[in-house]
Amino acid sequence: MADRAQQSGRPAAGSGKRKPDLDTVHTINANGSRNFLQVAEVSGRWQNRKRLIHLLLLTAYLAAPWVRIDGHPLIHFDLAGRSARLFGSTFTNQDFHLFFFVVIGVGLGIFVMTSLFGRMWCGLFCPQTMFLEGLFRPLERLIEGNRARRIRRNRAGIGSGKIAIKTVKLAIYLLLSWLFTLAFMAYFIPVRELAASAPLFPGHRAALVWSLFWTGMLFFNYSWFREQTCLIICPYGRLQSTLIDYDTLLIGYDGKRGEPRGKGVGKGGDCIDCRRCVFCCPAGIDIRNGLQLECIGCYNCIDACDDIMAKIGKPRGLVRVDSSRGFETGQTSFLRPRLFIYIVVGLLLIGLLILRIGDRESFHISAMRSQGMPYTIEGELIRNLYTLHLQNKTDRKQIYLIAPAADALSEHGNVEYIVPQPRVELEGLSDVQLAIFASMPKSSYTGPEDFNISFTDSTTGVVQNIKVRFRGP
Ligand code: SF4
Ligand code: SF4
Repeated sequence: MADRAQQSGRPAAGSGKRKPDLDTVHTINANGSRNFLQVAEVSGRWQNRKRLIHLLLLTAYLAAPWVRIDGHPLIHFDLAGRSARLFGSTFTNQDFHLFFFVVIGVGLGIFVMTSLFGRMWCGLFCPQTMFLEGLFRPLERLIEGNRARRIRRNRAGIGSGKIAIKTVKLAIYLLLSWLFTLAFMAYFIPVRELAASAPLFPGHRAALVWSLFWTGMLFFNYSWFREQTCLIICPYGRLQSTLIDYDTLLIGYDGKRGEPRGKGVGKGGDCIDCRRCVFCCPAGIDIRNGLQLECIGCYNCIDACDDIMAKIGKPRGLVRVDSSRGFETGQTSFLRPRLFIYIVVGLLLIGLLILRIGDRESFHISAMRSQGMPYTIEGELIRNLYTLHLQNKTDRKQIYLIAPAADALSEHGNVEYIVPQPRVELEGLSDVQLAIFASMPKSSYTGPEDFNISFTDSTTGVVQNIKVRFRGP
């Protein structure tokens, strides 16, 4: 009973008029059930900015696997081939260390953004907000009507067409969840292959299982779980208090100007306690209670309050983006030491990343350990076998020339090399194992000695040497 009442936007029986406070999580009732929010619609300049950003992000997300450079997708991860194609460059598992710079760089970028602008990432750029606030909630409004209509319909009985309209909404949600799952899978499976094998993915059970799993997850998230993802699962909200400072720009309520609230226009503070800022909050909080963990920085309350201020003839900005210092003193200091530290570390990382990308080899050689004795004795000869692994890291066919380096074991007499494949043709992103033999008379052997085997990329002329050791008794 209590659940149904909360679903409809009414307070649970016996709970009185429950308002957001600092002691409880408003979206969870005292008995642990869900207080399902019916978020009010809002318009204004922040909504326009958000719409534009979300449109650009969604377009980029859907288009990236389709856009091609040199015949390859802009972004593609080939898990089976252990390689990735990113913005025209090919990366293999040998380049995995570069991922370190990307992870640290993204983390640092979010730190800087949070330090300067609070949870701007959550409100404008996070995929969860982009899909939920930018697409699924607007669709809900389109199908089910505005907040008041949704609440009325939820309260009405079953014969009111409620089931039909909700079924339509959920069917569209399910279809979109499936399409967005396929869009995600297109980053891993070439789009033509994906289009030809979806929805059942014959002979590719893993793809079928993943498509069903992610469709279910997205559907569950956007149709029911919603803001609980930010509140319960995402760790970023808990981190924010360590990242912000007195000068971080946050969404806040100007208590000095707004209080005492609700006395009527021109009689108390500017806040008329209309609660528009609360009804349009997708986190279910009251911004007038101050900075709270649940706030995703969506800017809805700013637009809602600005709209009210315009209606009652007051200047907008009672709820606005400002720093704690700004709300208290009216002044904000944007430049501060931690910002410079972040910028210096960020620039260092970018510099290192560029250097490392520039240093990347187009092919990789490694020596593999041969089984058994490292050498054999054949009459008067000591023979060594080397097994080498050659990997073409480009996506084009290449020809490699293999030979001992000019000065290899040059101080010993009668050294012989056998290179069964002195010329190797390798398809893009493929690899091969090669055997190479070296032998010398026992009489020439003086002890273990290193020498180089050279690999030359015949297209670029780039030479790489690999060091191996000649051993004997
Ligand atoms: S308090 Fe304002 S900015 Fe924060 S989540 Fe609610 S509406 Fe969005
Ligand atoms: S929208 Fe503005 S005026 Fe209305 S309750 Fe919120 S802060 Fe007060």
